[in-house]
Amino acid sequence: MPLDPARVVTRLRELRSLTGDEDGEQRVAWTETWAKGRAWLAESLADLPLEVERDAAGNDWYTLQGDSDRAVLIGGHMDSVPNGGWLDGCLNVLAGAEVLRRIAEDGRPPVTVRLVDWADEEGARFGRSLFGSSAAAGSMADQDELRKLTDRDGVSLPDAVGAFDVDLDHALDAHAQLASAAAYLELHIEQGPVLESLDLPLGVVLGTFGVERHRITWTGQAAHAGSTPMDKRRDALAGAAKLALAIRDVARETGDGAVCTSGGVVCRPGIVTSVVETAEQLLDQRHLDAGKLASMLARAEELSRGFASEENVDVAWERIWSIEPILFDETLIGFADEAIREVAGTSHRLPSGPLHDAAEVSRAGVPTMMLFVQSLRGLSHTKLEDTKPEHLELSVSALDRLASKTIDWIAAK
Ligand SMILES: [Zn+2]
Repeated sequence: MPLDPARVVTRLRELRSLTGDEDGEQRVAWTETWAKGRAWLAESLADLPLEVERDAAGNDWYTLQGDSDRAVLIGGHMDSVPNGGWLDGCLNVLAGAEVLRRIAEDGRPPVTVRLVDWADEEGARFGRSLFGSSAAAGSMADQDELRKLTDRDGVSLPDAVGAFDVDLDHALDAHAQLASAAAYLELHIEQGPVLESLDLPLGVVLGTFGVERHRITWTGQAAHAGSTPMDKRRDALAGAAKLALAIRDVARETGDGAVCTSGGVVCRPGIVTSVVETAEQLLDQRHLDAGKLASMLARAEELSRGFASEENVDVAWERIWSIEPILFDETLIGFADEAIREVAGTSHRLPSGPLHDAAEVSRAGVPTMMLFVQSLRGLSHTKLEDTKPEHLELSVSALDRLASKTIDWIAAK
């Protein structure tokens, strides 16, 4: 049977009625509703000649054996955030299932093709994203912290994953799954406004942004709001405010998709009758280019020192978290451009602001590629998340073509 993109849209609606409610999708990882969605997926693939396996980190693998053991992987995640949208993660999986069905029905492929449903991409219950893919990638290095995590009801992460036969101490055994991986493909909704603003259905993802997150503490002097003249003040908030505005220029001047966000400022004493003594500011900076990310950070630090001296306050920087930019595979980027042009006429290349399972797989050294399909109004992680059905269908066709090109490439290697 040929590829049937419309079937994917029908299946997505079925999944929504099975695992969603009036507030949205409810397939939070390590819950019964999640398990129900995964069982429904497994059932839909039961007629195909696939090996089915759950690995040590709870990832589900559907393997179509080919002439060679070298494997092209197509991935996604069935888990959602609470009150989530109907496309995030499961579009990837259901489109991948349709492509796998098409390949299986064409006969034995020259290389092995595997669909993977990653466990707990969202981290919605315990605040730790990319659980299954980071275990498979071998980059999960925070077991000691994971052991201490609890959900809102006080259930620990080890107990929650244990209920699904995952032993946290052995989760990294999932790394064996990537030993035969020759390429990894993932389709995802954009979750941003770029493709819609360009009136394009599909885009090629160049990679995921590197991220620098810092806590910046400004320290001045609390003083009476009535008795302290303006020119005698050491106002910590003034420094934070100047930086919050200046980083917009830093991002603009850096360009190429640079983003800088001052996500919050907490002031103390925080009362109406006092000058602010300390202002704790959160800064998030992202760029696809490691050098530009580093220079954005350096520029923000330099500006902060200037503002500190103008305002006669102190400033201190502390790194909260960082990750390097992850660039996808050049050859696969070329195939993705071709695939999109074949089904939609025009392609567009863009970076991904959010991290995805694909970033973990790429970090593990597997040539990786993502496709984005347009998101309406750029909304995601809400029941308002949506994409036009005709664009969803185009995305399935593009993923199918990308998979074919990738299989031929790996087979010829
Ligand atoms: Zn997702």
